[in-house]
Amino acid sequence: MAINAVVFDWGGTLTPWHNVDLHELWLGYANVYDPTNAQQLAETLNHGEQARWSRQFETNGEIGTGVLDELFHEAGVDTSDPRHFQALDTYLSGWDPHTYTDPEAIELLEELRGRGIKTAVLSNTMWPRRHHEAVLERDGVLHLFDYLLFTSETATGKPHKSVFADVLYNLDVEPQEAVFVGDRLFDDIHGAQSIGMKGIWIPHSNIPASQSSDLGITPDATVQRLGEVINVVIGWSAQ
Ligand SMILES: [Mg+2]
Repeated sequence: MAINAVVFDWGGTLTPWHNVDLHELWLGYANVYDPTNAQQLAETLNHGEQARWSRQFETNGEIGTGVLDELFHEAGVDTSDPRHFQALDTYLSGWDPHTYTDPEAIELLEELRGRGIKTAVLSNTMWPRRHHEAVLERDGVLHLFDYLLFTSETATGKPHKSVFADVLYNLDVEPQEAVFVGDRLFDDIHGAQSIGMKGIWIPHSNIPASQSSDLGITPDATVQRLGEVINVVIGWSAQ
């Protein structure tokens, strides 16, 4: 069985999971945008973000999270105000310590590509593409992907089949010759399997209960480290 593509989730997969204080990060935004009302604005933004993630989960990805701008508009932020851009920079910088790529990623991606296997990222995210690309560029892996799909640019999100289909179409591979690597049983593994891909699970993330379901989902393989993906792929290719 030829494996011709490996598609990766981003958070908790290419980037190891960190438990992050989301309110604190939004407070970083709010302290710049509106210092006199910072606590309340941070709470509104945090609550709004969580509501969007929950809605995506509850609709099986049929309604995606949308983009940060929608969240800001709901919270009454004027996104044309220069303070907003300064605040957004502060917010995204606050994430920096938590976005470093797994040190095993470069060798894995180079090995896969050396074998002629295409690579891609499919990430459920509200962040703009330019920020994701800057993070991947910072860590020297951006050039190691054939395709990147961020759901901040799509109406749907994982586990909806449409986003997996988009990636497969753009890689020009069939589902049965493609593997998905992810940390979420529902969004990643169930989503990939539902379109006919194989799913490799990395089980080290502390997924919020409101965004997780593992009922009846069995990954095709489970690895403890990102670097182990190569052996699984080689093993399947030899079958
Ligand atoms: Mg993830």
